[in-house]
Amino acid sequence: IPEGTKHRISRDDIVVGRILGEGFFGEVHNGVYKSPTGERICVAIKTCKDCSADVKEKFLSEASLMKNLDHPHIVRLIGVIEVDPVWIVMELYEHGELGNYLVEQQYILSTAMLIQYCVQICKALAYLEGLNMVHRDIAVRNVLVASANCVKLGDFGLSRYVDEQEYYKASVSRLPIKWMAPESINFRRFTTASDVWMFGVCVWEIFSLAQQPFFWLENGQVVNQLESGVRLPKPQLCPPTIYSLLSRCWAYEPHGRPGFSQLVCSLRYALQTQVGSSTD
Ligand code: ATP
Repeated sequence: IPEGTKHRISRDDIVVGRILGEGFFGEVHNGVYKSPTGERICVAIKTCKDCSADVKEKFLSEASLMKNLDHPHIVRLIGVIEVDPVWIVMELYEHGELGNYLVEQQYILSTAMLIQYCVQICKALAYLEGLNMVHRDIAVRNVLVASANCVKLGDFGLSRYVDEQEYYKASVSRLPIKWMAPESINFRRFTTASDVWMFGVCVWEIFSLAQQPFFWLENGQVVNQLESGVRLPKPQLCPPTIYSLLSRCWAYEPHGRPGFSQLVCSLRYALQTQVGSSTD
């Protein structure tokens, strides 16, 4: 299959269903896609309501990044329809956003399962690190639940490739301040190390069952607090070993933070000790 056409699919092979939610560019629907082998795949279809050339390019840039990704804990791109109306077709994850799922399932989720989600997201980020990609928007709203024990990192709308030693200088104003590292807030500097900070905030959200980080502050107050040494407090459900990892992810200096591969190991170890020490 020639590069670049691999993900081109035909609208005739898609049956569109109900609306799942509202995305930044337009409605997201569920549906069924019949693949060339005749297999029927449940899909999520992202649409773009404003089809001007520059908006369309921004909309499709997420898909073009996703074309190169293949990981068990990253949302899978099925294909793209590049003729108007443009669509991005992804694998469907029935349980929706992790943030909502944590609230709905709070009484049945074990600590071990919460750690498992953290390990899976961390593995996805270690994979992106290996590709020199920064995600820039790691949060439970951007993680989808495929099944009770499998989550997928999604929403590559803000992702960029970065060269080694390089960083992406953001120009977007739609930035998730309460999740961001201080150097991202101050200088719009985004690196793997700032992704590590955000991952720490995402782990905090998981153990807080999707509370908003710093909900007690205004966006404008966050960076001052961080600079005076204030950090998110330990959520009740968060094991102390994991909270000490979070403190390291939130080192003020980017170089002081651990890498994703190291975090995968530490989280796995925390999972083993959790499973060994409790029955929940
Ligand atoms: P934003 O940038 O504002 O987050 P977006 O354009 O990235 O928006 P999404 O958040 O990805 O859009 O999608 C909108 C909604 O559609 C989400 O709330 C989610 O519930 C649903 N959705 C998106 N992709 C999938 C999928 N693959 N499986 C199931 N639901 C999905």
